[in-house]
Amino acid sequence: MQDNGALRAGLLIDSNGGPPLRDAIVQFADGRIKAVGRAQEFGSVADSALTIGNIVMPGLVDCHAHPTLFPDRRPFEEQLQAPDEMLALTAIRQLTVHLRSGVTTVRDCAARGQTMFWVREAIRRGFFPGPRLQLAGRAITHSGGHIHWAGGVADSAEEIRRHVRVLVAEGADVIKLVASGGGTKGGIPYLASYTVDELRVGVAAAHALERPTVAHARATQSIENCVDAGIDAIAHVEFLSPGEIVDMGNAGAPTGLPKLDVRVAEKLARSNAFLDLNPQSSGWDTVVLLRRKPELTCAESEQLSKLERYFEHFLPVIGALRDLGLADRMGFGSDAGPFDTEFGHLEYNVHLARKAGLSPMESLQAVTRNAARLCGLHDRVGTLDVGKDADLLVLDADPLEDEQNLTRVAAVYKSGVRVV
Ligand SMILES: [Zn+2]
Repeated sequence: MQDNGALRAGLLIDSNGGPPLRDAIVQFADGRIKAVGRAQEFGSVADSALTIGNIVMPGLVDCHAHPTLFPDRRPFEEQLQAPDEMLALTAIRQLTVHLRSGVTTVRDCAARGQTMFWVREAIRRGFFPGPRLQLAGRAITHSGGHIHWAGGVADSAEEIRRHVRVLVAEGADVIKLVASGGGTKGGIPYLASYTVDELRVGVAAAHALERPTVAHARATQSIENCVDAGIDAIAHVEFLSPGEIVDMGNAGAPTGLPKLDVRVAEKLARSNAFLDLNPQSSGWDTVVLLRRKPELTCAESEQLSKLERYFEHFLPVIGALRDLGLADRMGFGSDAGPFDTEFGHLEYNVHLARKAGLSPMESLQAVTRNAARLCGLHDRVGTLDVGKDADLLVLDADPLEDEQNLTRVAAVYKSGVRVV
């Protein structure tokens, strides 16, 4: 495997936030970045450097995905009748799609049983190429709670502690706790599930084993609970509360509409928590699909307007959080897998980030540097800095100009090895 070399780029975006470098080189050796700079500083290396596409940027980091699931628009309850063997094969398919789209790091945010641990082992053995993986294993939730189907049901402090310890022993890198209802049948997304005390037990047990925590938190109350409990990354952050309830016509439970609670948002801004935002999974794939259709049935146009209304409420919430100074702590994860959320479309999240008010650079950092920080992997990936892994996304056109250019993939490198 060739993991030494140099790439020359018309434009190099290092994701640190400064202006991109023109006519630049990234040189790597033994899978790590050895030097980054202007071509003129590289002498003969510049002449021998490969030019594949015009743009070089860090490989994308998806801080929230579910590769064992396939977005065939069926509810979890039907889909999960498939055995673990099928879930593992699904994960291989999904990770391949993601890698081809430039995603070189994925945090799996809950899967049933031990499936993802074995998928990672297969990648490690070289059976198939895949992104580097950070795994939660089974999400920890109460009986009947969201994602209970993964097998991580815990109803007391002792059970929560036991699950954390078993998961870490099996290979979990991060502990996922379910702090509100969700799309699992019977879930109430706008209400908290675990209490602050229950979440605290999970955080303490995870931190004692040097594992960060991420919590599923759609409800406003659950966001506050997560902040109070010291959760490291808060997922979804939709600010749902009791009130008007809408049936989105999706699998799973009806939800409230997102509405910023200023007090909780300011509390969130004062905390150290990262925001694991997942707007794609609020039905954006369906919005894209329906908008492309020349003609819609009555049911389809009703669904489209419901989904559009949801985004009209959710995106301003994200914009307000950005205005509170949270842009650097925002990772945008696909949450791909469930219902309609496709792999290979992290650019949807970049698009939605921009619609919410993030700058072009901030929106790219949300799927590179910030997502890596959120996962605690910033010493390895997320920016093009000397010493980091040479995970590179090579594009034909500038994604700062148009996020759609993220789909114009010319090559993908993982640890200096070309994988696409
Ligand atoms: Zn998720």
